[in-house]
Amino acid sequence: MTTSAFSSLPLSAALLSTIEDLGYSAMTPIQAQSLPLILKGQDLIAQAKTGSGKTAAFGIGLLHPLNPRYFGCQALVLCPTRELADQVTKEIRRLARAADNIKVLTLCGGMPFGPQIGSLEHGAHIVVGTPGRVQEHLAKGTLKLDGLNTLVLDEADRMLDMGFIDSISAIIEQTPARRQTLLFSATYPEGIEQLAARFLKKPARVEVESQH
Ligand code: ADP
Ligand code: MG
Repeated sequence: MTTSAFSSLPLSAALLSTIEDLGYSAMTPIQAQSLPLILKGQDLIAQAKTGSGKTAAFGIGLLHPLNPRYFGCQALVLCPTRELADQVTKEIRRLARAADNIKVLTLCGGMPFGPQIGSLEHGAHIVVGTPGRVQEHLAKGTLKLDGLNTLVLDEADRMLDMGFIDSISAIIEQTPARRQTLLFSATYPEGIEQLAARFLKKPARVEVESQH
């Protein structure tokens, strides 16, 4: 039995009060199954259908170990599209509201480089972006990932469909081996297992069956 109260998790009082303010009275099933493992620092493959609260699961997970006094990128979330990256950024900003001055930056293609580079120079704790643009910033040297704690592959099934595997590999090569890697997906095609075998360390697996 897993309990569904957020207060059962070892979270700061500030984060618990933000979660309450957001009106999240209990964890969704994927949150209840994944958060205890994420907060222990384990790598994870989590599968649950769209709308099940996966963003808050990894959002809370990556905020938990974040050091606001270190202005380098400590968490990177890779998403398949700009729209999804914008949604994830919004949700993480909502969750980070009570924490002091945590910068969340979106880096997506189809947007000019100048403002992105300017924001990176000021420092960002969390970067949410699409693989192509994140890879371009790494190549330019405008983004550095040597202080990364948490890497999230969100909608991993769609990123594979869209042919992002080479970008994802190139990005992961620039991250520290000691990082925590969290893979979230709505479906579980064959490619996910290979992706996990390449980039995750002894991942725990959680799955919430869709109700038909
Ligand atoms: P997914 O990524 O699994 O498709 P989202 O993370 O986008 O789903 O979440 C769907 C909706 O559920 C969002 O509007 C989010 O604010 C809301 N939500 C997330 N967690 C909870 C919770 N514990 N209680 C109530 N609503 C939640
Ligand atoms: Mg999602």
